[in-house]
Amino acid sequence: IEQTAYQNDKLAMLGKISAAIAHEIRNPLTTIRGFIQLLRPHLVQLGKDEYARIILAEIDRANDIIFEFLNSSKPTAPQMVVVSVYSLLKEVVLLTESEGHMKGCEINLLLSEDANMNVSIDVKQIKQVLLNIIKNALDAIEEVKCDHSGVINITAKPEGKYVNISIQDNGNGIDKTLLAHLFDPFFTTKEKGTGLGLSVSYRIVRNHKGTISVDSIKGAGTIFEIWLPMV
Ligand code: ADP
Repeated sequence: IEQTAYQNDKLAMLGKISAAIAHEIRNPLTTIRGFIQLLRPHLVQLGKDEYARIILAEIDRANDIIFEFLNSSKPTAPQMVVVSVYSLLKEVVLLTESEGHMKGCEINLLLSEDANMNVSIDVKQIKQVLLNIIKNALDAIEEVKCDHSGVINITAKPEGKYVNISIQDNGNGIDKTLLAHLFDPFFTTKEKGTGLGLSVSYRIVRNHKGTISVDSIKGAGTIFEIWLPMV
């Protein structure tokens, strides 16, 4: 699925708008956050700590959205370093395991430590891609697996001049007719989604001279595959 010039324009415009407003919204949010934290002991005394917790969580969510919008605006040149695919995936699993655990979902890395594959990547950017995909998988699992049977399997294998990384979940899946829109900026099926995660991921992978694809079966699960040039 090719990202069109139209999609890129959308991202560029979004960038200009978000850079202009982010600053003006972030500063007051930081102030609000600080004062709520100062007030927190008083709220605890009143037995209303829950209020503080909700306010802080909502401020953080607003901040995350601003961050996501800002991030999608800046197609920064990748800072390449050579890393082992195993250590990259291991770290991503470590970062997501506890959230997975909270949602009753197992996150498995099906790759042995001595798998000898290296890629030259901007670690921060590719990590962001993998975290976006895993977060989506957790959302998809949360929709259907209330019985703690959610599974995300992550693996990698060499494929020609590329390393193929796959992330498979047994979440709600998505209708075949919608698959072509997944990488469109602002395409979302979530009440609180931004629809930016995958369009940004797409751009990052393409900037790495790689490819990303998705396949899904409604009601059964989804698989994302990423190909990155092997070192
Ligand atoms: P957001 O998560 O904010 O909606 P994304 O660009 O990350 O934005 O994802 C776009 C849409 O793709 C999601 O709203 C969802 O419908 C679909 N999607 C992405 N990953 C999955 C998945 N693992 N299973 C099912 N649907 C998915």
